[in-house]
Amino acid sequence: MRPSKKVVLASQIIDGTSMDPLKDHAVLIEGSNIVKIAKKIEIFQIVENQEYDLLDYTGFVLIPGMVDCHTHHNGFGDGRLGDEIAKIPDEILTLKSASNARVALFSGITTIRENGPKNKTMFRLRDSIQSGKEIGPRMNLCGSPVSIIGGHMGYFGGEVTGVFEVTRYVRSLIKEGADYIKITQTGGTTKTSSPLLPAFNLDELEAITKEAKKFGKLTATHCLSTEGIINSLDTGVDMVIHGVFKEPDGTDKFREDVAERLAESRAFVNPTLHVFRARAWEMEKLGLQRKLTKNEIKLFDQHRRNFDQRLIDCSKMIEMGVKVITGSDSSWGDYKLGNTIHETECINMAGYSNFQSFQSVTLEAAKALDMDNSVGSLEVGKKADMVVIKGDPLEDIGNLRNVFEVIFNGEIINRGSKDSNMSYIQSPP
Ligand SMILES: [Zn+2]
Repeated sequence: MRPSKKVVLASQIIDGTSMDPLKDHAVLIEGSNIVKIAKKIEIFQIVENQEYDLLDYTGFVLIPGMVDCHTHHNGFGDGRLGDEIAKIPDEILTLKSASNARVALFSGITTIRENGPKNKTMFRLRDSIQSGKEIGPRMNLCGSPVSIIGGHMGYFGGEVTGVFEVTRYVRSLIKEGADYIKITQTGGTTKTSSPLLPAFNLDELEAITKEAKKFGKLTATHCLSTEGIINSLDTGVDMVIHGVFKEPDGTDKFREDVAERLAESRAFVNPTLHVFRARAWEMEKLGLQRKLTKNEIKLFDQHRRNFDQRLIDCSKMIEMGVKVITGSDSSWGDYKLGNTIHETECINMAGYSNFQSFQSVTLEAAKALDMDNSVGSLEVGKKADMVVIKGDPLEDIGNLRNVFEVIFNGEIINRGSKDSNMSYIQSPP
């Protein structure tokens, strides 16, 4: 039997709560939990004459396991639409999700919030992970998103209408094991949906949020236009996803009054910036291989302008004190799981300091999921989820990509070869 105690050493420990790194410190793990963080000498005194494993990462930086608040494990990240994913059998999507879950964990993401799978695919994957048959991050799940008929992601199994049906559906999701309720409050890329229009009527949205709250579940709304954000604020939604400021006629208009309400509310905003840029990157890469058609050039331009606009709006929200967190939206569109840090970098570009950006993918992200009592920082009593990286992320947030080792639930994860770890990396053109 291997000893259940582990002492973890690193040149620097960034625990997630403070900007000042701990030096000459060590973390003591017992089983899957952190039981002590203190000066090395003190930790070694505690374990003296006991059996323990020494994990020595001198020369490296130790950080908390990272949290991605927005994933699509069913996705391929190859540009295909959700409409096409919905046609794939559940069994195949579950397999795809299993490989995505590995990749996410290997990249240092130890907790994910899934934002919309087909049917029960993610519940089954989580069962499989919890029984030890598969490996993957800790999962905060929603089941299929609650959608109006023909609404965004309705094809995944959650189309409902009227107060009675939405209430019934929320209860069935909770019965199935949903940790939170995801609602598509505007249309999206779904062919039959209308991105600029609100989806549910206010009485329906209110019924959803009330029912979720009754059972202590958080809510999150997908909003590709301002009206959706306003509806979410009116009904006390806990997280606004995308948070796009667009008028019903499609014009971009940053609404300061709405952003102010967001800043004053308890809601977190998940701006999903990189998923817009990922599309532009892919088109740029295509343009390096062959001449783009006129139509493609137009689209490329549109995607770039879209990203620039989102970045400007996000900067304004940050300035106004809106709580912005990292949620990658991968593997939706062209954005592949395992590359969460692209999104953290975008938030950094929008104006968060390096430490704020770091917290947006650790402690603040955990708070947004109401999971900060167990993950998000290196603190006594929390899960021993930690990542060993090369380079100081508070100097360059991009160092969060330089993952050397992942410890999950107190165990070192076998991440395979360097080549296989490089295989999921998406780089700029
Ligand atoms: Zn999404």
